[in-house]
Amino acid sequence: MKKTGVFGGSFNPPHLGHRRLAVSAADRLGLDRVIIMPAGVPPHKVPVAFAGAADRAEMCRLTFADDPRFEISTLEIERGNKSYTVDTLNELKKIYPGDEFYLITGSDMLETFKQWYKWEEILSLAYVCTAVREKSAKLDYSGYTAQQKKRFIPIDAEPVEISSTAIRNALASGSDVSQYLDGRVVDYIKINALYADRFPQYRRLVESNLDSARLNHSFGVSRAARKLALQYGANADKAELAGLLHDVMKNAPKEEQKSVIERGGHKLTAVELANSKVWHAMAGEAFLRLKTDIDDPEILSAVRRHTTGAAGMSLLDKIVYIADFISEERDYPDVATVRALAAESLEKAIIYTTTYTIRDLAQKGLPIHPDTVDCYNDTLIKLTEGE
Ligand code: FE
Ligand code: FE
Repeated sequence: MKKTGVFGGSFNPPHLGHRRLAVSAADRLGLDRVIIMPAGVPPHKVPVAFAGAADRAEMCRLTFADDPRFEISTLEIERGNKSYTVDTLNELKKIYPGDEFYLITGSDMLETFKQWYKWEEILSLAYVCTAVREKSAKLDYSGYTAQQKKRFIPIDAEPVEISSTAIRNALASGSDVSQYLDGRVVDYIKINALYADRFPQYRRLVESNLDSARLNHSFGVSRAARKLALQYGANADKAELAGLLHDVMKNAPKEEQKSVIERGGHKLTAVELANSKVWHAMAGEAFLRLKTDIDDPEILSAVRRHTTGAAGMSLLDKIVYIADFISEERDYPDVATVRALAAESLEKAIIYTTTYTIRDLAQKGLPIHPDTVDCYNDTLIKLTEGE
C-alpha cells in the first residue's frame, strides 16, 4: 500500500514555506508521493489578478519538481469550479485505489475544519496532517470523538512565516521576495510579468465596469495577449493593456453602447443594428477615446476590431482578437485546437475562428458582419501567397 500525500492550495504563488511543509510531511510520514493540487478558480468569484491557473500550476512544477516524490495535479484546475476537498479525495481514491491518503494542511486549519464541507467524510478518507509549531500551543482536538482524533497527525514543521498575499503585495510594490521563492519561480514571475500592477488606473476602470465573470475573462485575455506579444514580437505592454480593456463596455446597457458609438462618430450599419453583440467593441473604442486617457491608435484599433476582425489587421489587432479566443478561462469545445494553431501561426488561428464564426452565424440565420468576411478573405489570401 502506498502512502500518498495531498497538498492543495491556491499557490498564488507557491513559496518556500509551502515546500518546507510538504517536504516535512513527506519525510516525517514516509510518504511515497505527494500530490500538489493547485485550486481552480470559480468563475463567479472575484478573480485574483495577475496570475492564471496555468501559471500557478507551472510555478508549482518549478517549486516542487526536483523532488521525485512530488507530482503536480491539475485535476481541480480542470474542474474549473470550486472544488471540495472531499470530492477531490474521492476522485484520487479512484485513481489510486489501494493508497492511504494524507491531507497536508497549514496550522490554522484545525480552527475551521468543522466548517469544511463533509468534514467527517474527509476524516474517513484521509489522515489530516497539520503543521504545528514546536513547543508552542498544542492542537485542540476538543469536540472530536476518540476515533476521529486518531485521524489527525501533527507534523512538526517550521511554520510558514510568509503568506502568498504578502508576497503578491511585495511583488506589486517592486520589493525583493527572492528569499521566499524558488529561484526558478522568481525568474518565471519576471519573464511572464506576473503580479505587477502595471496599469492600476485601467485595472480599476474594468473592475468597476465589469461583473466578476467578465473581469476574470478580461484578466485572462490581457495575460494571453501579453504572451502572444512576447511570442510574436509585438509590444507586450500595449497588448496587455488592450486585452485588459477590450470588453470594457460589454456589461453596459445596449442603449448606452449605442449612444457612445454615435457620440464617437460612427453610424451603425444595417448589419450592425441587427446584431447588438458586435456593439461593445465599437462602443469600447469610442468610450476609451472619449472618456479616458487612452489615445494610442493601435490600442483603440485592437479594441474596436476584437469582435468582428477586419481586413489588414495589425499585429496587435490579431493578438487581441486571438487572445480573446484562447484565454485560459475559455472552455468551448475546440479551444484546444485554436490554442495549438495560435502557438503556430496567428493567421492560421484567425482562419479557423472566422470560418467558425461565419458558419455559426449563417447556420443560425444571423447576419454576418462584412469585416469578418473581409478578415477571412484577407487572411486566407495572404496565407496562401506566403506559402
Ligand atoms: Fe468582446
Ligand atoms: Fe472578450
